Amino acid sequence: QAKTSGGNTMRFFNPDMQADVMARVHLEADLHQAIARDELRLHYQVQVDELSRVTGVEALIRWEHPQRGLVPPSQFIPLAEKNRLILPIGYWVLERACQQLATWAGDDHRQRLTIAVNVSSVQFHQPDFIARVQHTLESTGADPSRLVLEVTESLLMEDPERVRNIMLRLSRLGIRFALDDFGTGYSSLNYLKRLPLHGLKIDKSFIKGVLEDPVDAAIVSTTITLAASLKLGVTAEGVETEAQHQWLREHGCGAFQGYLFGRPVPMDELLLASHLCPMTT
Ligand code: C2E
Ligand code: MG
Ligand code: MG
Ligand code: MG
Repeated sequence: QAKTSGGNTMRFFNPDMQADVMARVHLEADLHQAIARDELRLHYQVQVDELSRVTGVEALIRWEHPQRGLVPPSQFIPLAEKNRLILPIGYWVLERACQQLATWAGDDHRQRLTIAVNVSSVQFHQPDFIARVQHTLESTGADPSRLVLEVTESLLMEDPERVRNIMLRLSRLGIRFALDDFGTGYSSLNYLKRLPLHGLKIDKSFIKGVLEDPVDAAIVSTTITLAASLKLGVTAEGVETEAQHQWLREHGCGAFQGYLFGRPVPMDELLLASHLCPMTT
């Protein structure tokens, strides 16, 4: 903005900011090449039930940048949403996740696992979103009922009637929806009731404070109760300690995700940590 409004405004543009902008410009240029250069990686983090049995995984993208190393999604997903690279990136993630699901078909234990994929609002609101999802499921042979799409409150609020229709159509294929980062956006309880949601994921910022901060504790326990009355599943994300886990169980939460159970790792590493998959021998 400073630049386009004329030369004089450049004085507001200090060298630090310039370095920042240059770093972003480079990152953006590199991101255009990331798929073609095969630099995107998909890591998976386990999700467990009340008995700490693995029920599924969440797919979380990373970018293995040749100079910067492993770049976390917080550093390039917002950028990709702005320049729409999130579209090819999002479909790359979906395709990978569905290929993974397909490799589990027929395996007694693994075929019951779900894979959750984060869907950006930009991607969801593409006119061909349903067709792309459907095509990916068909071409990979993945079981739609094992796919969970994680959406955010802000995504739901953009043209709610349209969102509802898209979700209904995808639900009919067997796909499930989870509402991610619950509590950080604006949720109308009315939407929660009207949308075909399978579960809520309580944002990790609330889980963090559950033992020390009475407000966080109140928000979390209320969300658990709310989910139960709406007949929705509820997952606590960002569970790091046994004490938090204990508290959550005592308050009726039955599904968990967090470093306590495992960090996001590449699939081969996850499969080695064999609690995921008692080998079918
Ligand atoms: P999210 O979907 O809410 O994912 C959970 C985030 O919490 C992940 O961060 C995960 O690594 C982190 N996490 C899990 N357990 C713990 C814990 O015990 N403690 C702490 N402190 N953090 C924990 P990550 O992988 O950096 O991803 C950040 C966000 O980037 C995701 O938040 C999601 O919004 C977005 N994202 C990741 N992958 C994708 C993707 O493929 N597509 C899109 N559109 N967004 C993605
Ligand atoms: Mg998520
Ligand atoms: Mg989340
Ligand atoms: Mg998030």
